[in-house]
Amino acid sequence: MRFSFQKFMALGILIGMSGCSIKQNKEKSAQEEPLNIILMIGDGMGVPQVSTAYYFGEGIPNFSRFKHIGFHKTSDKSHRITDSAAGATAFSIGEKTYKRAIGVSVDTIPQETILEHLQKQGYQTGLISLTTVTHATPASFYAHVKNRDLHEDIAAQLATAKVDFIAGGGRNYFRNRTDGKNIFTDFIQQGYHLDTLQLSEPVLDQPNAYILADEGIPSKIDGRGDFLSKATSKALNYFNQNDKPFFMMVEGSYIDWGGHAEDAEMMISEVLDFDKTLGVVLDFVEEHPNTLLVVTADHETGGVSIGKYYDVDESTGDKKEVPEKVAVYFNTDQHSGELIPVFAKGKGAENFQGIYENNEIYHKMRIALNPKPVENE
Ligand SMILES: [Zn+2]
Repeated sequence: MRFSFQKFMALGILIGMSGCSIKQNKEKSAQEEPLNIILMIGDGMGVPQVSTAYYFGEGIPNFSRFKHIGFHKTSDKSHRITDSAAGATAFSIGEKTYKRAIGVSVDTIPQETILEHLQKQGYQTGLISLTTVTHATPASFYAHVKNRDLHEDIAAQLATAKVDFIAGGGRNYFRNRTDGKNIFTDFIQQGYHLDTLQLSEPVLDQPNAYILADEGIPSKIDGRGDFLSKATSKALNYFNQNDKPFFMMVEGSYIDWGGHAEDAEMMISEVLDFDKTLGVVLDFVEEHPNTLLVVTADHETGGVSIGKYYDVDESTGDKKEVPEKVAVYFNTDQHSGELIPVFAKGKGAENFQGIYENNEIYHKMRIALNPKPVENE
């Protein structure tokens, strides 16, 4: 594989407003229509990565469509500099845990995730990732294992997790396993429309799983195309037509990989693809106001800064600044400890302003789902 290191993810959530008239019935209106939540995670996407959309993208980035913006603090219980597993688990269970933990608390006890909680409330659920669907970020929403490397255990847990829309890579962990099992047969028994080759049309009255690569889906510069925005669009149509509320996590996985590789072209292309997908989701939120969108990351990757661009004279070594250009610099090939931006839109979005711990994102989503009745004036 081109990138053998760990990946991280970034997170966005979308929450919307009830269509009811608050004026007519302030006490009831907030709870009459259950809230949809979309959480988008740009793995490794700190402020510098978001900034690249402004320097290297065409037109105004979709990040500019947010009014409610905050920051979260990423450290976990075992490490000041966290990883995708502890980062996503803080979002999914509402507690900080140890590095490499998937859906378990710091004492390795499995905890109910927000996806599992909402399934019990009758929600549809969805997970979209560019990595294997067993990777740390998506796994943290449905699996419970002590270590993120247990891909085969995680794959087996996905087969019975009853997630309605799954899209990503990772065929090897389902059918080329050390235990000889073919987990895809479990998906068929669970009633899934399973496609291991292409992003075919979802079947409305069945759960749908698209596991489309042996390992990860290719990066943008390696020819992925529009997988992320197309899968997200198909999922939104699927959920909308089934006429039940939904929770969905969408991960732009390879912003992190670009940081690890110290590859500016890769990192920027992944940010721009994430921003394009963000546009699809924001359009949906604006048409379906009973939805909350939250967009964030688990951590920054690369210690990236954007600075002066120089032309260098190869014969003399002299540097001359090019004032109309910028350059991307990497300070590390690892994760960093910077504050991470949170963008929110829809019902409850204002509560994501400020600076808070990463696990507070879970609690802010729960508050948006069950707001206190609006007081009469
Ligand atoms: Zn990483």
